[in-house]
Amino acid sequence: MSDMFDVIVIGAGPAGYHAAIRCAQLGMKTACIDKSLDDDGNAVLGGTCLNWGCIPSKALLDASHKFVEASEHFAEIGIKTGKVSVDVPAMMARKDQVVKGLTGGVSSLFQGNGVTALAGSGKLLAGRQVEFTPHTGETQVLKAEHVILAPGSVPVEIPPAPLTDDLIVDSTGALEFQEVPKKLGVIGAGVIGLELGSVWNRLGSEVVLLEALEEFLPMADERIARDSLKIMRGQGLDIRLGTRVTGAEVMGKKVKVTFQDKDGEQVIEVDKLIVAVGRRPYTEGLLSRDCGVNLDERGFLYVNDLCATDVPNVYAVGDVVRGPMLAHKGMEEGIMVAERIAGQKPLVNYDAVPSVIYTHPEVAWVGQTEQQLKASGEAYNVGAFPFAASGRALAANDTQGTVKILADAETDRILGVHILGPQASELIAQAVIAMEFDASADDLGLTMFAHPTLSEALHEAALGVAGHAIHMVNRKKRQ
Ligand code: FAD
Ligand code: NAD
Repeated sequence: MSDMFDVIVIGAGPAGYHAAIRCAQLGMKTACIDKSLDDDGNAVLGGTCLNWGCIPSKALLDASHKFVEASEHFAEIGIKTGKVSVDVPAMMARKDQVVKGLTGGVSSLFQGNGVTALAGSGKLLAGRQVEFTPHTGETQVLKAEHVILAPGSVPVEIPPAPLTDDLIVDSTGALEFQEVPKKLGVIGAGVIGLELGSVWNRLGSEVVLLEALEEFLPMADERIARDSLKIMRGQGLDIRLGTRVTGAEVMGKKVKVTFQDKDGEQVIEVDKLIVAVGRRPYTEGLLSRDCGVNLDERGFLYVNDLCATDVPNVYAVGDVVRGPMLAHKGMEEGIMVAERIAGQKPLVNYDAVPSVIYTHPEVAWVGQTEQQLKASGEAYNVGAFPFAASGRALAANDTQGTVKILADAETDRILGVHILGPQASELIAQAVIAMEFDASADDLGLTMFAHPTLSEALHEAALGVAGHAIHMVNRKKRQ
């Protein structure tokens, strides 16, 4: 192997592998170093997202949702089944197959595009040199015109609940249970806590979520968060806000969790405990002392809006830099950097990054929340439409939730869209496109939507901004 590349990418998660493929498409000689190994010790591409994050969690969310549909809701629509039961090892095996297919797919894409995949650790040295230590074999020093750092993130650990092999686990461990825990504790009612808590709750666990904050989902629109909390509690998730976990002790095959809430010290005993209190940038072993790349005060690699570090021709993308820790945000950063290296001028629009929580109903949003607009004193109008009034949602027996649109009071430009409802993850893309093109609520209102679709709820909410949604009686009578 030659030791000189146009671009070396460290990390083959979504941010790194998108960057590497785009660089190769643009004609650059590209290598991508990644050190991840699967349970059998084989090198795997795709990072957290494909191996231990987005994909396996969605495989389990979709499977467990289908189980609930079959066991609880089929009868409502006239389908009789016998007793429906869960085969957890089979569900896990299928999830692993999905992961294997996709990580193998990245490997094929690397081959097809001519990206050199290097299995092992990468460390940035001064002068755009990269020390590559393969899983087997000698350490080498490689040189590149440009280096892209994409090492991702790892779960935060907390002293009161140190991880054990299989009783106190992080999100990775929670994707591997081979049987349904009778009682499951989750520390943190954020995105991971809610998604993985939902999986195991649907499959039969009694789930208690211990959340430090008094507020539920503070990053979401207040009304959507409030409605979500009510629905999720109704599904059986025991979400306890304002709790402070003080200890977790393994006692035989159980975990005794101690926490404080408004009533004082509490103790619960659970069969498994998931710690899901956030993720932190992962930079261990990544940088030599003299490489010149700086960290910010929270440990993220410091970059500007174009993902450039303090060292010329060295960039950083994905979870390791500021901004939301989301796969699609990292993918767009990776592509932007590749195209900028090639002399093009793309930008990432950080004002239009969609967020999704894949519970059922799903929660999805883009742009500003109503509480943010209130705080900034911006005048706005609101249009909202409930799925309970959507013909398609009624036909599908899936009517929980609302679409809410916030638009500038003067210009009508869409400032934020918040959806709690079926397929919110798909519907939010329409809002992102509208915002990318600076659409007004009226633009959406004037657009024709197919009938009957869930998307019509977005159309009606847009009409509602001006007070003339058709399928609900408008309180504000405007022209
Ligand atoms: P990563 O995916 O973490 O990849 C970094 C890679 O770099 C890893 O393979 C790592 O081994 C490698 N690496 C690190 N340092 C080195 C080094 N020095 N040398 C060589 N290799 C190195 N996001 C969403 O948008 N949607 C979701 O539905 C979603 N679900 C999630 C569910 C779970 C349970 C979790 C944990 C996360 C989820 N996320 C989701 C977040 C998403 O996984 C991350 O935002 C995304 O993976 C970040 O991509 P990345 O490329 O920056 O880093
Ligand atoms: P998070 O920030 O979403 O939630 C962590 C929660 O834990 C917060 O509500 C926080 O207040 C709480 N918390 C923190 N310390 C605590 C403590 N000591 N005791 C009790 N509660 C405590 O983080 P996460 O759920 O771990 O997810 C990590 C990252 O992965 C997120 O940034 C998220 O964007 C990403 N992710 C995204 C998706 C998705 O896009 N659907 C899914 C999973 C993960």
